[in-house]
Formats: sequence, structure tokens, C-alpha cells
Amino acid sequence: MSIQFMVGKLKGEDRRAIIQGVQKQMQEAALGAIKPLLTEFCEEELTVKLGRGKREPRRVSGQAREIEWQCGNCGSGDANQFTRDGHYRRALETGWGHVEGLQVPMLECQRCGHDVVCHYTILEKYRRFWLDLDQQVLFGTGLCQSLRQMSQQWSGVLGSSVGLRTINERINQIEPLLRQARSEPITDGPAVVQFDGIWVREQTQMDTVKVDKRGRQRKKRKGKKVVVLVALGLWTDGSGRREILDWQVADGESKAAWEPFVHRLWERGLRPETGLQAVVRDGCGELGEAIAWVYGSTVTEQRCIFHKLRNVADKCREELKGEEKKETRKLLMEQASAIYQAESAQEARQRLATFATTWRARTPKTVATLERDFEQTIAYYALDGVARELIRTTSLLERTNRELRRKFRQVCCFGSPTGAEVAIYLQVKRLNARWSKQTWWETSHSLYFDFLTLDHQGRPPARYQGSPLTLFQRSPSEPDWHLSAHPALQGCGSTGIGLLRHPPHPLGSVHLPLRPFPLSEALP
Ligand SMILES: [Zn+2]
Repeated sequence: MSIQFMVGKLKGEDRRAIIQGVQKQMQEAALGAIKPLLTEFCEEELTVKLGRGKREPRRVSGQAREIEWQCGNCGSGDANQFTRDGHYRRALETGWGHVEGLQVPMLECQRCGHDVVCHYTILEKYRRFWLDLDQQVLFGTGLCQSLRQMSQQWSGVLGSSVGLRTINERINQIEPLLRQARSEPITDGPAVVQFDGIWVREQTQMDTVKVDKRGRQRKKRKGKKVVVLVALGLWTDGSGRREILDWQVADGESKAAWEPFVHRLWERGLRPETGLQAVVRDGCGELGEAIAWVYGSTVTEQRCIFHKLRNVADKCREELKGEEKKETRKLLMEQASAIYQAESAQEARQRLATFATTWRARTPKTVATLERDFEQTIAYYALDGVARELIRTTSLLERTNRELRRKFRQVCCFGSPTGAEVAIYLQVKRLNARWSKQTWWETSHSLYFDFLTLDHQGRPPARYQGSPLTLFQRSPSEPDWHLSAHPALQGCGSTGIGLLRHPPHPLGSVHLPLRPFPLSEALP
């Protein structure tokens, strides 16, 4: 506590030195308080597990007290056989900073004299980072922060370098949550579901090598266009509720891509019996076939007004070119949208007729675009209650669609397919949270607890699963490292952590989280 304040107003360097000094001491004070607190929580857990306090003797003659911690040698899980055996010291990286010399209590098995493997609730073995950093990374990714930004932030807080790989692993580890989300039953189903395909660019690594500006050999990267199939649920009970029910990254919008997606939703419970009345889609024919295949004629098919008006706007810009016709274009689009504000199908048809008479001479193609399959764009008038709600929410739908496009495009610069899937999942979660008036802070933090729950259901921890990672550069102009699964190493499975050298890689050595496997098969 030796900060020198001075008489008079402090300015410039002096003020900066004092503020920095105070900040440093605050961080030290926080870390100093955290350390004994974490140890105390572990001690508390030990007391509950053993059923006795620190100096209470163990009950040797009593019945076995089975707990889920086991002796690492004999496998005994009888807490009456376990005794406290001092502490070991470890370091821990937390959101407050680097904790050094954290004391973690140990247990010894009295049957064989070996250590008991203790899995504390608040602390995980062999993990460098405390869970608050896992939560931060989910929060940050949801806000479209890049790996690089998060790496810089963490390195700053911890005073040591935190690699992109580390952060990427923390993001990708929640992948099992995706699978869970996609199999969750839909019980309180929406009346309307809108299917849409949103095209985004996914970065993938190529095998060809090229030399960058600084003369280094770099793997070529290629942007592949993929489509995110989205099912957006809309409730027409006046609540304005909307939610992304499911999504899927696919190569295209073929029937082969749409059908399993639509079918998965049907399997999860999105059916007429649970309230589904109408399906909204754009003009894409193969989606229509997939919907017909799964739902037959049990639901009303409604063409997407948003897409229809967008096509009309495109044609209108062609036919009414130039800055001086801007006002005319605006007027035309207003009148076109107003058609769908009609109270009944009959009124909508009348409005279309008036619109056609007004505009056909000047913009024949625009009018033809609007007239094409017009009946399918007003199909929902046949449904009680749905129509009014949907008309009211046309602008909401438009905004939602724009939002989805923007978000999905922002996140799709991640290297690996898993990275892209998880990034999109986080955007879905974030949008759903916002639409239901929950904060992303809350939602992203509880997401991590959902993940922990999965983790403890007997499956191997997800951080040891998945594809091994290789380092590569996004492009010669971006000198930072990025991560991706090397195609040759995918699917070899991994449950442990190991270090491997990857000799033919032009960038030198690579660390791979792998269980031993035949290298000759996996490496090119
Ligand atoms: Zn033992």
C-alpha cells in the first residue's frame, strides 16, 4: 500500500501512475481473497463427501459410505476409507487474473495408501482455466468477437499469452449442446413456421500451398458457400413470440438437404396436432417438395411475403433506374406492401388489381412478379386468427430475416465446420434470448452450466473429443494464426491429450489433442 498522492491536482503521467497503481493493488487484493475462498469451498465439499469435519476421526467399523470419488489405485469408493492428506498446489487462470499456489485438498485411501481422485464441483482437474473464462468466451463469441480479440483480452488480464487454439477449444467444446438442442421435443408448438435458407461463406483450408508477400509458404484458404437452413417459429396468440426452432448447415437447398431437416422438426413434434397451421416458405421448389413429403396437405402453405416483396423490389429497381426515380420506387413499394395489409383475401385481390392498373404500363415486369403465384402469398387468410397476426408481423418478419442474415454472415469466418456450427448455434441462442427479453449475459452464462450438466452424465468430457487441430493462416494479408481440423486427421477419434509433430506441415510443428493412432494412415 505505498501509493504516493500529492498535493494539488494530478495530471498526465503522475495521475496515470497512481491510477495504474491502484488498479494493480485492487487486482492483487481480489486474487488474494479468491485463493483461500476456493480452498475453503473444496474443504467444505470434502467435509460433506466424507461425512466428517477436519479433525473428526473416521468410522472404520461402520457401514461403507459410497461416494462417486474413487481411489485411483484400488477403485474403492468408500468415504470411510478415505482420509485427508494435505494439499497440493496448483495455478489457475481466472477472469480476475492468474492465481498462483492455490491449495487443493487431497484424500488418501487407507486400504492401499494411494491417492483418491477428487473431482471438485467448483474446480476441474488438469484445467488451466477456471470456468468463468469459458463463460466469457461464449459471451464474446455470441457478440461476434473474433478469436484474436478474445486472445488479446485474456492475455492482457492474465499477463501471459493465451493462444487462439485454447480459445477455439473452449468454444467448440459445447458442441454436444447442439446435438441436444436438435433433439429436444417441441411441445408448445408455434402456429406458423417459416423455412428459409440463408447463404453464407464458410472458410476452409486447402491442400495447395502458396507463397505469401513475406515469402512464407502458406496453405491456401478457400471460401465455400454454404446455406444455413432455418426454421423460425411464430406464435399467433398475440404474444409476438418468435423463436428459431432448428437450423442446419447444408451444401445447398436441394430436396435432399431440406427433407431431413423438415422431417427432424416433425419428429420433434412440430405437427398440426400440436398447433401448427401454416408453413411459410420462399419460392424455392425443392423446399416445397420436402414440405409436401413430410406434411402432405395437413398444413396451409404460404409463400413468404418478405421474399415476394424483395423480388418485386429487385424488378422495380431494374425498371425504374436512377436517383431521380427514387421517390417513385418508394411509392410503388409502399403500395405493394399495403396489399398485404388488407383485412381479407378479397380485399387483397382488389388492392392487387388497383396496383396492377396503376403500374403495369410503366413497370410491367414488376407487376408480373407480384402477380405470379399471388394466391399462395395470401393463403393464410383462410386460417382463423393467423392472418391478422401475420399481417401485423410482416415488418417484424422482415426485420427478423435481415437480422438472421447479418448475424450468420458475421460469424461464418470460423475455420472449421464445427466452429461454424457452434458459432451459428450461439447466434441462434442470442437471437432467441433477445426475442424473449433475456440478456445475452445471463443466457450465455447459463449455457455453460447446461454444458456442464451434459458433461457429467457419464460421457467423456467434450474437450477431449472432436477433431484434432492444425494451425494455418487465414490469408497472407492476415498474419495471425487460425485453427482448423486437418482433413487427413479427421475422424480418427481422440479421448486423451497428447503432443504430436506433424512433419510435412509447411508451418512446422503442430499440437494435436490425440490418442495414439497409426500415424502412417493419418498423415499425408
Ligand atoms: Zn485404494
